[in-house]
Amino acid sequence: MLYDFEARLARPTALKIADLERNGRLKHVIFSRQFNRELIDHLCGIASMIQDLAQIPEGREFLGGRLAHLRAMLYFTQPSTRTFLSFMAACQMLGLTCNEIRDPSVSSEYKGESKFDSVRMFSSYFDLIIMRTREPRLAECCAYLMNDLDDFNQRSVPVVNGGSGADEHPTQALLDVYTAQRCFEFTSERDAPRRISFEALRARNPTLKKGLPGKTYCFCGDIGRGRTIRSFVNLLSLYSGVRMIFVSPEHERLRLPEELRARLLQSGVEVQESRDLDKVIEEVDLLYMTRIQHEWDTGDDKTSLKGADLSRYWLTQKLVSRMKEHAVILHPFPRNEEIAVEIDTDPRALYFTQARNGMWIRAALIAYLFDVDGAIMRTHPKLFAERHDYNLGNI
Ligand code: ASP
Repeated sequence: MLYDFEARLARPTALKIADLERNGRLKHVIFSRQFNRELIDHLCGIASMIQDLAQIPEGREFLGGRLAHLRAMLYFTQPSTRTFLSFMAACQMLGLTCNEIRDPSVSSEYKGESKFDSVRMFSSYFDLIIMRTREPRLAECCAYLMNDLDDFNQRSVPVVNGGSGADEHPTQALLDVYTAQRCFEFTSERDAPRRISFEALRARNPTLKKGLPGKTYCFCGDIGRGRTIRSFVNLLSLYSGVRMIFVSPEHERLRLPEELRARLLQSGVEVQESRDLDKVIEEVDLLYMTRIQHEWDTGDDKTSLKGADLSRYWLTQKLVSRMKEHAVILHPFPRNEEIAVEIDTDPRALYFTQARNGMWIRAALIAYLFDVDGAIMRTHPKLFAERHDYNLGNI
């Protein structure tokens, strides 16, 4: 029966993953746990190739012709700047035509149409649905709806979760891991223009290694309600020797949820909690700052957080001055007062680069979903790498 999702929603995530795949590839992107190391590396590789190709006219023309026959619906009824715009830019880069609904009061939802009927309509006119809603698990239900339509030989298109309630933000996790990978390769001048060379860093810190394994990742702010943290740690837990420090107020809804701690420990992550950024700042390789997500406050939260001093969860220039020389500061944005703007010019502050990386990795994901990643891999050496080798100075 259509629109009957309860039993499927109730399953553990691990049992849902196969439902979101077709022919050995992801069809829908709903959970960060759909990405394994191999797929992450593949998508990061494609993202870097797209980034290279976008630098040169032939590359841009090639990319723009890949999916010019397709249309994407961006159904974003929850506020968004970066996810919406970077998905749109990613689609446009590959030639997809985009349309959007951001305000349900201008669609038939206003006349009482169910969200599922609306989404089914989108699948009649579009080839891809990217969605962000306040309702948790709506994107998951829409993916099941598309699968049911497929079973009934009806039109069915991929659904990509651009943020669902407070639970998951899988494509943010992808861009975060892509940014971390590029930073910890210590090679890309584009990601860290004023970064000291790896050799120089190594001379001062002989234990420093390239890559994500063995690093200390610190998450600061609203740990309990931040969907970006929940999704990003799932990807980081795939790497060995990872240590995670969670810095949050001692508040039941803001601190590390027990369920997440248990899952991370089970994956072999070393987990630590702290109430004070000042106490751990010197140990951190990657600092992931987040804002306090007041939009999820219940009446009780409002009372308990009223007048609370949250300044121990703000990053100051003084704290940054004590950070490791190679450390990276990220933030999914929007920021409030937790990162002072004076920090923006510190070479370790890479949150604007991180936001731009969202465009490349989302383009890579869309290319993969529509099976043009192979064409990008074949064309990159012809258009970019060879030209790059011979003509380095001209690019
Ligand atoms: N932009 C991120 C999200 O959509 C982070 C945030 O809103 O604080 O979850």
